[in-house]
Amino acid sequence: MAGKTNYIERVLETVKKRNPGETEFHQAVSEVFESLKFVIEKNPEFEQAAILERIVEPERQIIFRVPWQDDKGKIHVNRGFRIQFSSAIGPYKGGIRFHPSVYIGIIKFLGFEQIFKNSLTGLMMGGAKGGSDFDPKGKSDPEIMRFCQSFMNELCRHIGADTDVPAGDIGVGGREIGYMFGQWKKLTSLFNGVLTGKGLDFGGSLARTEATGYGCVYFCEEMLKDKKESFNGKTVVVSGSGNVAIYAHEKATELGAKVVAMSDSNGYIYDKHGIDLDTVKQLKEVERKRIKEYVKEHKSAKYTEGSFDIWNVECDVALPCATQNELDEKAAKTLVKNGCIAVAEGANMPCTPEAVKVFLENKIAFGPGKAANAGGVATSGLEMAQDSQRLVWSFEEVDKKLHQIMINIYKSAKEAAKEYGTPGNLVNGANIAGFTKVARAMMAQGLV
Ligand code: NDP
Repeated sequence: MAGKTNYIERVLETVKKRNPGETEFHQAVSEVFESLKFVIEKNPEFEQAAILERIVEPERQIIFRVPWQDDKGKIHVNRGFRIQFSSAIGPYKGGIRFHPSVYIGIIKFLGFEQIFKNSLTGLMMGGAKGGSDFDPKGKSDPEIMRFCQSFMNELCRHIGADTDVPAGDIGVGGREIGYMFGQWKKLTSLFNGVLTGKGLDFGGSLARTEATGYGCVYFCEEMLKDKKESFNGKTVVVSGSGNVAIYAHEKATELGAKVVAMSDSNGYIYDKHGIDLDTVKQLKEVERKRIKEYVKEHKSAKYTEGSFDIWNVECDVALPCATQNELDEKAAKTLVKNGCIAVAEGANMPCTPEAVKVFLENKIAFGPGKAANAGGVATSGLEMAQDSQRLVWSFEEVDKKLHQIMINIYKSAKEAAKEYGTPGNLVNGANIAGFTKVARAMMAQGLV
């Protein structure tokens, strides 16, 4: 056992040395490795085949210049990334993030997580992630278009419907995917499923917009069922007010819950009578305004500056759907004290490792992001399937498949947790179930 632990520690040390300063990447690798000690112990062949050393090193990392001109003619230069992490079980697949905080450590953390998440969906998708430190906030549509076109000018050399299929993420929604797809078509003359999250008029899938938020709630519903509970009558806090948050709110409400708080990167809104989703959609999806504008229309709601304080709001279920490390140990303790019974991560790695520990120690049902938010990429996989067939499935058909996939992910995480001696620990379960499939594929494909 000591030898196996040493193996994991040795590889983790190498990761830290070889990728200095990439703290989010270190955090993601150590979280996964923590769970894998059980697997490595049972399967010594993985160490002999150097699976861990190989899986932490991306197959390919592309960093590129993205020059673009603003509306006044001034030239700006941003940095673009595409990290193609693993193609063991399918073409690379993972979103593109436009946010000023983006640097290689964030893209690598997201790409690494994506390997296991995609594996959990049961679909043929490898792991990748991309993005830029470009800030879309306050930019005009033509500026966004010129940036997206410039980004695609380089990205197009590295992607393809059977090699690497990017999607959206923070700062990249339908508008940005549309501009990137247009440029892809112009450069390659190919009309194919090279990007997912496309508009419904040109190869997008019904229910893709809703998928991550809905999927997170479907996953949480399974966790609640195991506690003989449901969403009906529950008070819910959803952080963020972007794509994931909005549709998590929608599905939770449909299942009888009341969402009392939402946020953006400046602050949060609270209304004990419930947050009106139509107003949030209008503000965020149509007008692209700040969440604080909400209180102008809803007098019973209160706005508080500082987004991460949203966890002080009392709730039965917490759905962190904004960004990484937005819920720390203190916030986790507050949630526990306030009687919260379940937490499902809509965002990627929103809970710090210390917060996760608090949840697990207090027997709070905890759904880690790579399982709970896998509905987005799963539906992207369904979009790829439709594009390949040149077919369009109905909303109900896609939603039904998504729901079943989330149930399956829950089952495999739960079973793996039990099989490896940590029943109820879905963090271990998701990491183990996601990893073993990829590791087996790597073994079967030889040293490549
Ligand atoms: P959006 O850009 O649509 O929304 C992001 C939301 O989070 C906004 O409300 C934003 O506020 C807030 N936010 C972003 N950065 C920060 C920050 N540093 N501090 C506080 N709040 C912040 O993104 P998505 O909803 O698509 O993504 C949200 C999370 O879900 C991300 O972690 C993403 O990786 C993950 N995810 C998304 C999937 C998808 O299908 N979209 C799939 C799987 C995971 P503001 O408007 O002020 O920036």
